[in-house]
Amino acid sequence: MTIKVAINGFGTIGKRVAQAVACQDDMIIVGVTKTRPSFGCDLAVKMELPLYCTYDEPDKIDAFASGGYDCKGGLSDLLAIADVVVDCSPGKVGAQNLEKYKNAGIKYIFQGGEKHAMTGMSYTSCANHLENMNVQGTRVVSCNTTGLSRTLVPLYEHCGELSVECTMVRRAADPGDSSKGPINAIKPVLKVPSHHGPDVMTVKPEININSMAVAVPTTIMHLHVIVATLPEGHGLTTESVIEMWSSKPRISIMNGAETGITTTAEVMEFARDMGRPWGDLHEIFVWEDGVKLEGNTLYYFQAIHQESDVVPENVDAIRALMGTESDWMASVAKTDAAISKTASL
Ligand code: NAD
Repeated sequence: MTIKVAINGFGTIGKRVAQAVACQDDMIIVGVTKTRPSFGCDLAVKMELPLYCTYDEPDKIDAFASGGYDCKGGLSDLLAIADVVVDCSPGKVGAQNLEKYKNAGIKYIFQGGEKHAMTGMSYTSCANHLENMNVQGTRVVSCNTTGLSRTLVPLYEHCGELSVECTMVRRAADPGDSSKGPINAIKPVLKVPSHHGPDVMTVKPEININSMAVAVPTTIMHLHVIVATLPEGHGLTTESVIEMWSSKPRISIMNGAETGITTTAEVMEFARDMGRPWGDLHEIFVWEDGVKLEGNTLYYFQAIHQESDVVPENVDAIRALMGTESDWMASVAKTDAAISKTASL
């Protein structure tokens, strides 16, 4: 079975998900949407992806021809030929599209900018792939929640219980986003706890977690400062925690002192050297020399490439919803192998 995938919203996340889906052998992109004939349409043309308009109004569809683009139709035309739609519209905008997906009778995947309550399901490959098998719709959690899940779920599975406090040091904006800040300030998120930690509980309710957040003037990564309390008799050491994470997919562990990768700037330079499209880093980056287990308290830092860690998760989520792969590790291996074969656009 080849799964027919529509991407509604071809921005930062949408174009990456489209590329990751397009290189899999069990799914194809039947179309991507743009709101108007802007520069992102050129990328769709370059990637040979059928282009549709986000809206159904004839004047909005016709505007693409005036811009020199071949627009195949409106959103309804696209939904009519898809098995599943990945909604990559801006945060909080996706909710407006839900009714259209329901009316089209197709499966739907939203992103972390939407609320869990809207779908009643959320998704992270390592946390709850099985629970998402064959459901009608889900939400791939945010980049921060995905990053927290990658390292906390294996810890929880080893320990059987886990309490976590973390501070999210958030990038102010994506590199291509000129509308956000701060540019010369550190901005505390004055909602305490922040939504990030509790959002982990939408995919792994057993983890007891809270978070606070600050936005800082950088565009390239988020950094998490994590303190986890393990139960008595956890049987772990600093070394065995590092070994556990090293054996899990989509976690990259490096020693800062040995490699010279001591800041998020070097992490991203290392990622660019890997040659993935857009210089992406799908893995969560953990500094080996920033991990310390003292008694029952585990301290560590991790860095998140906000634009890309959720991308392979969307591919796995498609397989879960379509019921084509129940083993999350098998899906992750398939997704990542296909992505790694595609070095460039
Ligand atoms: P973006 O602004 O880069 O891209 C959104 C695209 O959707 C744009 O091309 C926009 O024109 C289009 N769009 C506007 N209105 C639309 C509508 N009604 N229907 C469909 N498309 C519409 O946003 P993004 O950063 O790609 O974020 C998309 C989602 O992914 C959000 O929920 C966001 O919270 C989540 N997310 C973003 C990041 C990140 O760092 N950028 C990381 C993880 C998750």
